Amino acid sequence: MRILVVEDEPRLLRSLAKALREEGYAVDTAEAGDDGLFKAQSYDYDAVVLDIMLPKLDGWELLARLRQHKKTLVLMLTARDATHDRVRSLDSGADDYLVKPFDLPELLARLRALIRRAAGQARPSIELGDVVIDLRGRSVTRAGAPVTLTAREYAILEYLAVHRGEVVTRSALYEHLFDESDDTLSNLLDVHVFSLRKKLGAGLIVTRRGQGYCIE
Ligand code: CA
Repeated sequence: MRILVVEDEPRLLRSLAKALREEGYAVDTAEAGDDGLFKAQSYDYDAVVLDIMLPKLDGWELLARLRQHKKTLVLMLTARDATHDRVRSLDSGADDYLVKPFDLPELLARLRALIRRAAGQARPSIELGDVVIDLRGRSVTRAGAPVTLTAREYAILEYLAVHRGEVVTRSALYEHLFDESDDTLSNLLDVHVFSLRKKLGAGLIVTRRGQGYCIE
């Protein structure tokens, strides 16, 4: 999953990006509203974390312009005690909001829930034969035994599992799983898929030649 964080407070932006990357998300960042809008319109993010008070273009305007073209999930960061902001967030088409200052675990939990709901994934786990993915704990078992995956491997597996039954193209995987700061070494999709098959069984992820990957 790939997330855009738009926040002009550099320390908060850095800590959010770091925490999200540690959770296995690909993360792009923007410190101003115009840059944030450009990125949100250019890429197909799984969610946008959007501050309200931003230079160039505030969060409201960014959201309004984005909503003219895209339904990307948006979680707004609102000021404390500003009931008006919270109501306005939801009225403006934000999918959720969080009041500053917030605890990181709550932000992560709300993002997971948002993305899960949007994918029509009401239950917090996905069963694929003897492989079970716990979306809340971000852990995987095979025949009841825990399987250790790297953050990248987990991200690929989760994305394919949430979109099971669909062929996911390589370019969609690149767009959703790798961010603008990734180096080429971590971009070796085939290497990660090879490793996932070794750990979870050769038949789980099917290659559709010339199209992409699929979990059936
Ligand atoms: Ca701000």
